[in-house]
Amino acid sequence: MRIVTQVLAAALTLASTLTLAAPSSAGDRTEALTLLRPDAVFDGETAVLRKGWAVLVKGNRIEAVGPDIVAPAEASVIALPGTTLMPGMIEGHSHLFLHPYNETAWDDQILHEPIALRTARATVHARVTLMAGFTTVRDLGTEGAGYADVGLKRAIEQGIVPGPRMLVATRAIVAPGAYGPRGFEPGVVVPLGAEEAGGPDLINAVRRQIGAGADLVKVYADYRWGPGEPSRPTFTEAELKAVVEAAHGAGRQVVAHASTAEGMRRAVSAGVDTIEHGDEGTQEVFAAMKAKGVGFCPTLAAGDAIARYRGWNGEAPVPKGVREGFDALVKARKAGVAICVGGDVGVYAHGDNAREAELMVKGGMTPAEVAIAATSGNAKMFGIADRLGSVKTGMLADLVAVEGNPLTDISVIRKVSLVMKDGVLWKGPVGR
Ligand SMILES: [Zn+2]
Repeated sequence: MRIVTQVLAAALTLASTLTLAAPSSAGDRTEALTLLRPDAVFDGETAVLRKGWAVLVKGNRIEAVGPDIVAPAEASVIALPGTTLMPGMIEGHSHLFLHPYNETAWDDQILHEPIALRTARATVHARVTLMAGFTTVRDLGTEGAGYADVGLKRAIEQGIVPGPRMLVATRAIVAPGAYGPRGFEPGVVVPLGAEEAGGPDLINAVRRQIGAGADLVKVYADYRWGPGEPSRPTFTEAELKAVVEAAHGAGRQVVAHASTAEGMRRAVSAGVDTIEHGDEGTQEVFAAMKAKGVGFCPTLAAGDAIARYRGWNGEAPVPKGVREGFDALVKARKAGVAICVGGDVGVYAHGDNAREAELMVKGGMTPAEVAIAATSGNAKMFGIADRLGSVKTGMLADLVAVEGNPLTDISVIRKVSLVMKDGVLWKGPVGR
């Protein structure tokens, strides 16, 4: 009943916020011109607010940006007083097929929720993510929902359901015996949160996932081997190297879940592209990441959410898991590692993506650093900066307007008054 109510409420919100209910076909809008007139533009790359700038969109691309844009007579003009126009934000670590653990425990989602139910819910998660101004997500594993992310991505691309652009990991790869759900008679087959593979099987697991639609490969370099245990490495360095070689050969990045120093060290040495979590990372490990150009996604919001689900009220004493996340961010920044904005959203509510950005500011980054990381920074880290993450001529028209200045107050990214993706207006005032 609670779920039905949520979905109905979501549908009503959708009806009231959409200004163009369905995207027109690419052919219809090839020549359509729209001039967006905010108070200022943040280009995603520089910590400078460009007051008085406007952005002209032609079809699905940015045609012009600057202070003196003359709109052709046929252009529709959208006035956005009081706002800053910026690139559509990029969520660096999402799980659209999970919902908050305080609603349903992770084990129960994997074991007892049919994939159709999880997919239906994921369509709602996709819509609220888009409406929150996040026009791209790097979705790091369906956690037991197989290849459903590939199907959801296609449904979004075909305009069947609204949602962000998706870079998908599909099933993700874990070492046999190293992942959950657990606690069953050994040998009994139960649904797992990822695909098990090891040794020589690993390379074919990578190939199968890529063949089925994975844009990147996610591997768990460490995990808890048993209940109540700390995380420990799961793959050898040679195994991780084999994964990286197979994925990179296919033009795919490798993302490593790693929270121990040794798991991180092996993953970095093997040549992965980003490390997720990194709680126990040492200064030495972060230095190695900097030297090899490996990005870091601290996922502070997941640590915060889990601590609160366990009863933490946000005050001192700060739980170990939360403290380690902030410490890792400090060490990574000291080493000069590129920081990703990715909260592990799904552990907490989709659409609350701003939570990670706010915690990063709490962890010592300036609002401008976080705003740049959430746009051009993530785009560079994920290899999509040739088309996304900045407001400049020729880029895809993924744009959001926020009420205020995100370079001085990151919380304004919660006040999204316009969302455009691929030149299609999903939220905001209609042009005239
Ligand atoms: Zn995750």
